Amino acid sequence: MFYFDHAATTPLDERVLNRMLPYFRENYGNPSSIHQFGQKAERALEDAREKVARVLHCQPAEIVFTSGGSEADNLAVRGAALARYKTSGERWILTAKTEHPAVAKTAEQLAQEYGFLLEWLDVDQHGAVKRETLRKAVCDATALTSVMYANNEIGTINPIADLAAIARANRVLFHTDAVQAAAYLDLDVTKLNVDLLSLGAHKFYGPKGVGALYVRAGVNLVPHQTGGGQENGQRAGTHNVPYIVGLAEALSLAFEERESRNAHVQPLRDQLIGSILEAIPEVQLTGHPTERLPNHASFVFKDVDGNLLLQLLDSAGFACSSGSACKTGNPEPSEALTALGYSRDWALGSLRITLGKDSAAEQVDSFLKTLPALVEKARSLNSKFI
Ligand SMILES: *Cc1c(COP(=O)(O)O)cnc(C)c1O
Repeated sequence: MFYFDHAATTPLDERVLNRMLPYFRENYGNPSSIHQFGQKAERALEDAREKVARVLHCQPAEIVFTSGGSEADNLAVRGAALARYKTSGERWILTAKTEHPAVAKTAEQLAQEYGFLLEWLDVDQHGAVKRETLRKAVCDATALTSVMYANNEIGTINPIADLAAIARANRVLFHTDAVQAAAYLDLDVTKLNVDLLSLGAHKFYGPKGVGALYVRAGVNLVPHQTGGGQENGQRAGTHNVPYIVGLAEALSLAFEERESRNAHVQPLRDQLIGSILEAIPEVQLTGHPTERLPNHASFVFKDVDGNLLLQLLDSAGFACSSGSACKTGNPEPSEALTALGYSRDWALGSLRITLGKDSAAEQVDSFLKTLPALVEKARSLNSKFI
């Protein structure tokens, strides 16, 4: 079985696991405790915070650990919107039509339950938010703009530094969901110029269930998890020390090995895209042709049931996805593909192939030999039911 679904999750790096293990075993202290068990755990926690801060080029105190990418997104969007409303009465939230549900549903909840006003930013045909679109939408009453760094379904990279500059010029907070981008792109928040940035460890060979949020010094958040004073009162709850240690180690490795990992996956991705567009009729690449994650190839096939194609691929030994993992089993076309303007007969036939640092050329060759016949089979089965 070959794993081509690294956008859904990645395997835990052995080196990361080895860093984590002592904090499950002998170093089990609570970082909030005074005694030596606690001190040891606290040291590990603060080392982890420093490691993350080094990759992000920020202060350690600007990092809040969370239970994952979704929680980081929730805390950023809800926490910042509520804080801004309280201090300056701003009620507009701007976010893109292609956002991950962790951002989109949080923004919708703010509109439905808290009286915020929501504007969905249009994307271009490649799924990117244009500078002009944000420039027109942003105004004095905007509390927060949230635009993802790179899209999980179609791989498109947004021009975050430019978009953040537009927001900041209007004194509007800017959040970016960097969960999918973190494994491959520069996370220097001084260059990106963002106020808030979300990470989730399991997308870069760390453990599931742990994430981090960068919160620029001076940006206030209303916490959504209240209790003890952990994380500067921004996120209560006893720290998950082994997982936080794992996140920091995985992020450091991703940073150190970024160039070699990218150089490994990108030619394989290009081979996938080139061969599939050439060998299979009625196929389109989704997302941006060049401004896309180096491990990410995504397509739509006309008149193909995407979930059926995934099952055929699975039986043939290839683990792929049709979009975001949360969409599997859902017969509606994804919102991202709908936002790009694909009609149903195209959008239902989506396929996402996301490579990883251990994907091998032979795996890609074998995939490319198998795929055309399976698409043909899915098409012929599809036509029988129409
Ligand atoms: C995976 C993902 C999330 C959610 O992160 P979890 O750690 O799984 O909660 C959010 N945004 C994007 C873009 C993602 O790819």
